[in-house]
Amino acid sequence: MKRSTVICGLVAIVLVLMSVPALAQGPAGMRLYVFTSGSLGGFPKGALQIGGQGNVDWAPVGFYVIKHPKGNVIFDTGNNDNTITNPDGWWGPLAKGFGLKMTQNDAMDAQLGRIGLKTSDIKYVVLGHMHLDHGGNISKFPNATFVVQNDEMKAAWWPDPGYSIYYIPGDFADSKKYTYIRLHGDLDLFNDRSVQIVRAPGHTPGSQFAVVRLPKSGTVVLTSDVVYLKESLEKNLIPPIPGTWSPMGMYEGYQKVRLFRDAEGASIFFAHDPEVFKATKKAPDYYE
Ligand SMILES: [Zn+2]
Repeated sequence: MKRSTVICGLVAIVLVLMSVPALAQGPAGMRLYVFTSGSLGGFPKGALQIGGQGNVDWAPVGFYVIKHPKGNVIFDTGNNDNTITNPDGWWGPLAKGFGLKMTQNDAMDAQLGRIGLKTSDIKYVVLGHMHLDHGGNISKFPNATFVVQNDEMKAAWWPDPGYSIYYIPGDFADSKKYTYIRLHGDLDLFNDRSVQIVRAPGHTPGSQFAVVRLPKSGTVVLTSDVVYLKESLEKNLIPPIPGTWSPMGMYEGYQKVRLFRDAEGASIFFAHDPEVFKATKKAPDYYE
């Protein structure tokens, strides 16, 4: 073989390799912080899973902050800070029913302060859905841009019969004044695949989850309540009404989450799984 032919061949191979897109990863300096908004506990597992036996002794109320060079993101906002002093007044019978525990250390300002942020430093508020333990503190971010499925906004304001109990109107009373990206599907938030929002109606009409691609830790899925527990995903178990708005949608949401787990080896951070939460690094520690 002529030397020029070999060189042409090598050049061709290099060009082909350069055209293969590298596995997407977030920009340098990107960080993911894990928080819990107080805790729940002492409620029947059957509330999370049809046929679930016994009680859940303790469960987190997960929410997350992503620091990205183009702006800080909060994914879900936990329980309303009013539940620190007035749990029964704000949550009604659900406060005792779910064993809600909140202290001053759980207030949104205190939590963000632990990672050097103020509520005004948050650029985007992404809501997995607007139930009381995820959309509780949206009023703390009046100047942020909210990233919510349009269907979820309608479901929160005008819930379907039988599905109003987990929405607290006081949580989003001021929300008509805010700025929105009203979604009817998926969104690549920074257009770099580092924070991908995936529509997954099932738990509620406008549920969505986030796929976060970190520079060192790889892909993490933040489920909100698209899936409650690791066991739910593994055994394909869904919650009873009103924790399931659409059974078929719920199963499809599980399938979408599994896709990222299997295709990218994604870690999955469930909002309410006690064991998975205990095994994650908590703020101020972080994933990068
Ligand atoms: Zn929840």
